[in-house]
Amino acid sequence: MSTNKKRSRKKQKVYTIHWPVLLGLTFLLVAVVLLGVGVVRACALPAGDALEAEGTQEPIIQAPTWSPLPVDVDFTKVHSTHVKVFFPDEGKIRDMLLEEYILGVVAGEVGSSYPMEALKAQAVACRTYTMYSIRHGGCKTNPSADVCTSSSCCQTYRSDAKLRRSWGNTYTYRYSVIAKAVMDTAGVVMLYNGKPINAMYHAASGGWTEDSENVYGSTFAYLRSVESSHEIGSRQTGEVRYHRGTFVEKVNGARPNAHMEEDKLEEQLKVLSLYTSGRVEKLQLNEDVITGRTARKLFGLDSAMFTVEITGDEVIFHTKGFGHGVGMSQAGANGMASDGADYKTILSHYYTGVSFGVIGQY
Ligand SMILES: [Zn+2]
Repeated sequence: MSTNKKRSRKKQKVYTIHWPVLLGLTFLLVAVVLLGVGVVRACALPAGDALEAEGTQEPIIQAPTWSPLPVDVDFTKVHSTHVKVFFPDEGKIRDMLLEEYILGVVAGEVGSSYPMEALKAQAVACRTYTMYSIRHGGCKTNPSADVCTSSSCCQTYRSDAKLRRSWGNTYTYRYSVIAKAVMDTAGVVMLYNGKPINAMYHAASGGWTEDSENVYGSTFAYLRSVESSHEIGSRQTGEVRYHRGTFVEKVNGARPNAHMEEDKLEEQLKVLSLYTSGRVEKLQLNEDVITGRTARKLFGLDSAMFTVEITGDEVIFHTKGFGHGVGMSQAGANGMASDGADYKTILSHYYTGVSFGVIGQY
C-alpha cells in the first residue's frame, strides 16, 4: 500500500507539474502565431493605406505625420476677415468668418483624402478666388453677397451639419485634416500685380490646362495653358453616346440652321480645329459651326477635350479631363503633391507668374 501510495503521489505530482507548463507553452505558441500573422499583414500593406477604412468608397489615403487638431478650431485667432455668403436653397445671406467658409469649400470641392499639400493648394485657390470675387462685384446670382454656395456660380460649400452627416464617425479625423490645410495657409492668397487673382480651378485637365480666353473670352496673364502630366483622380476620361436619330433631333432642335441628316453624319459632323491644349475649338454641324465649349454644354460632355466616333448606329464622344480646364487641375495638384511638391510649387505651376501674400499685408 505504501508503495502504491508513493507511486500514486508520484504520478499525481508528475501531472500537477506538467499541466501549467503545457498550457503556458500552448499560449506562447498561439501568441507567436498571431504575432507572425500581424507582421506579415503589416508588411503587405503600403504605407499610404495605413488609415484606409476597409470597404469604403472614399478611403482616407494618407497617414498623418502630425497630430490632428482638436475639432473646435477657433478661426478668429488666426484671421478676422469676414465674407457674405449666399445660400440659394435657404434664400439667405450669412456673414461668415472667411477661414470657416474656406474650410467648407475645401471639404465640398475635394474632401479630405488628397495629400496635405494638395489640400493647402486648394485652400489658397479657394481663398484667392473669394478675395477676387469680393473686389469684382461679388456673386453673379446675388450681388448683395460676396460668394454663393452653388458650384455652377461660385464654389461648392458644405456646411458643418452636412459634413457630420456624410462623414459619420470619420468626421473628427477628416475635419482635422482640412482644418490643418486651412489653418496652415490662413490668410495666404495668390497675387498678380499686387492684387488677388481670379483663381479658377477644375477637376481634371486631360493632360493640358487651357488659356482663359479660349473658354471665357477674357485674357488673364496668369491663366495660361500648362502641361499637367501626372493626374490622379476619378474623372480622367469619359464617354457620351447618342443614337444617330436622337443626335440629329438634338442638334436640329437646338441649332435650326444646322439641317443635319441622319444618313449623312459622316460628312456633316466634323471637328474643324483644336486649340494647342487639344480641346476642340470648332465643331462643324453641317451648315452650322459651334465652339467646343458650346458642344460640351449641348451634348453634356465632361470637357471640351473630345474626339467624335461615328458608327452604324451611334455618335460617340470620347472625352479627356473634367471641367473647363482653366487654372489649377485638382487631379493634377493631387498628382504633384503625391510626387512631393509643396503647395506653393503646385500653385506656381498652374497660375503663371503669381506671387504670394497675406490678406491685410499686400
Ligand atoms: Zn455665386
